[in-house]
Amino acid sequence: MQLTINNLSKTYDNGVKALQNISLEMSNGMFGLLGPNGAGKSTLMRTIATLQDADQGNIMLNDLEVQTNKNAVRRLLGYLPQQFGVYPKMSAEVLLHHLAVLKGITNKKERTNIVNALLHKTNLYDVKKQSLDGFSGGMKQRFGIAQALLNNPKLLIVDEPTAGLDPKERNRFYNLLSEIAENTIVIFSTHIVDDIKELCTNMAIINKGKVVLKGNPLELIHQLEGKVYQKVIHRNDLNRYKDSYKVINEKLFLGKPVIHIVSDTNPDNGFTPVKASLEDVYFSQINN
Ligand code: ADP
Repeated sequence: MQLTINNLSKTYDNGVKALQNISLEMSNGMFGLLGPNGAGKSTLMRTIATLQDADQGNIMLNDLEVQTNKNAVRRLLGYLPQQFGVYPKMSAEVLLHHLAVLKGITNKKERTNIVNALLHKTNLYDVKKQSLDGFSGGMKQRFGIAQALLNNPKLLIVDEPTAGLDPKERNRFYNLLSEIAENTIVIFSTHIVDDIKELCTNMAIINKGKVVLKGNPLELIHQLEGKVYQKVIHRNDLNRYKDSYKVINEKLFLGKPVIHIVSDTNPDNGFTPVKASLEDVYFSQINN
């Protein structure tokens, strides 16, 4: 499967330019869409998922033009939206059967096989009789994936799926997604840099509706290697440093502000070189 997005643009009625000339290519594997809140990630994902239209440009899934072949695309598509509403008083098994019927899997034996396989795959088989309102955040997200996989999709879209998950749940979720991505295009959006680092073979950083960088995360880090320097500074001096250097990131280390800057040459002045990270790549694009 190949997904190609060509010059996609969308302006909402209120004038917000949510997508500006987005072009991306994706094939089987994990594709990470990284960007701050409001960057346009959900708009892009809803458009790929056939839930809203763009103003300009097109999306091709192999030979299918997505906007003009919505039903055909939906048969190939699984989607886990940012807010997935679950029916709290039902068990995982009952709800999954119910959703499978809605997706047209009417043969009971076939449906039972599919539902059981998905409960196993998402590690929910042992809790299948439990009501969803007792599920942890991670279990709910895994259930969300189970329902998105009911029609055996070739393209799976998951919008900010790790928000609110603890590290263990997050890891379990990563493993599940990367297993699915072996023979599926999985598009995954997040504002958390670590999510991408752990998971994705390809990524795009989007900001204010535009793709500002795309590629393989390790290659993008490599391009920045040797150019990142850090220094512990006094809080009051931050603005002065921002005037003199390209400050890409500021964080606290043991309560003291540490800045990262990008520079082609060694700036001396107390700066020390550090290994470039994906966080540096991200902030060098976002904090421009
Ligand atoms: P992200 O998912 O990266 O947080 P969104 O796609 O949700 O970004 O939003 C992109 C921009 O479009 C934001 O400025 C947001 O406020 C705006 N936006 C999103 N949906 C709508 C809508 N239905 N009507 C008007 N503006 C919207």
